[in-house]
Amino acid sequence: MSLATNEVTTRGAIAVRSVDKSYGTTQVLHEVNLDVAAGEVLVIIGPSGSGKSTLLRTINHLEKVDRGTISLDGELIGYKVRNGKLHERRESEILAQRTDVGMVFQNFNLFGHLTALQNIIEAPIHAKGITKATAVARAKQLLARVGLADKADAYPRQLSGGQQQRVAIARALALDPKVVLFDEPTSALDPELVTEVLEVIKDLAKSGTTLIIVTHEIGFARDVADRILFMDGGRVVEEGTPAEILGNPRNERTKSFLSRVI
Ligand code: ADP
Ligand code: MG
Repeated sequence: MSLATNEVTTRGAIAVRSVDKSYGTTQVLHEVNLDVAAGEVLVIIGPSGSGKSTLLRTINHLEKVDRGTISLDGELIGYKVRNGKLHERRESEILAQRTDVGMVFQNFNLFGHLTALQNIIEAPIHAKGITKATAVARAKQLLARVGLADKADAYPRQLSGGQQQRVAIARALALDPKVVLFDEPTSALDPELVTEVLEVIKDLAKSGTTLIIVTHEIGFARDVADRILFMDGGRVVEEGTPAEILGNPRNERTKSFLSRVI
């Protein structure tokens, strides 16, 4: 095995341990436990309101957990243990940790006043102190990788939704993250633009980057996932291989959900 391959497959292991999260009096995550191996592609499915987005947001500490811990490659996200107790990290450390976690949102969230290329180089330059020349060279490679080499100077409003989402994926990759989280990346797209985005994600899945993907695209989930996890009511109800979860779900709630979406 080459060193490069080895590096890729040993980054991005996630361990979620007994995580609870409430908004006010509403508990939205209950005792969530989850392990994602380095290089694994995990797809999360489940009804609206089941806590999928909240779970993703806790993984980069955009939401604080009420109880439990999350670690990435053995390092606690958002917290440090001192004298046997958990202490929240300083903002600068939290921001540094976030550079290891790429995130792709349903609504692309590109900066409208910046070109595709500028969107991609922003974080490498400002969050990691990479030189502009290096960041631009890397951004051009990433744009080519998502099939948009000719759109470097386009503004988001000049791009289709599918193109904007591909820029957002390139931007998420620009910091060479250990893991990339996708929150319903194709839900806001016109049907004819879904495939081009799913193809880019499939390509990424083959590259050995750890991916966690929330999606309602069941056919895509079957193709791309090493494992599928079904959430309902803030709990992990069932998990297994695509064949197990999609072909032979054991839990009644999984069966009922799948009968509605397939
Ligand atoms: P999903 O992504 O599976 O649709 P979410 O994680 O977005 O679910 O939401 C889970 C629950 O938490 C829902 O009941 C939702 O209304 C609630 N919720 C999500 N974000 C907030 C928030 N910022 N404040 C209050 N309630 C929230
Ligand atoms: Mg959601």
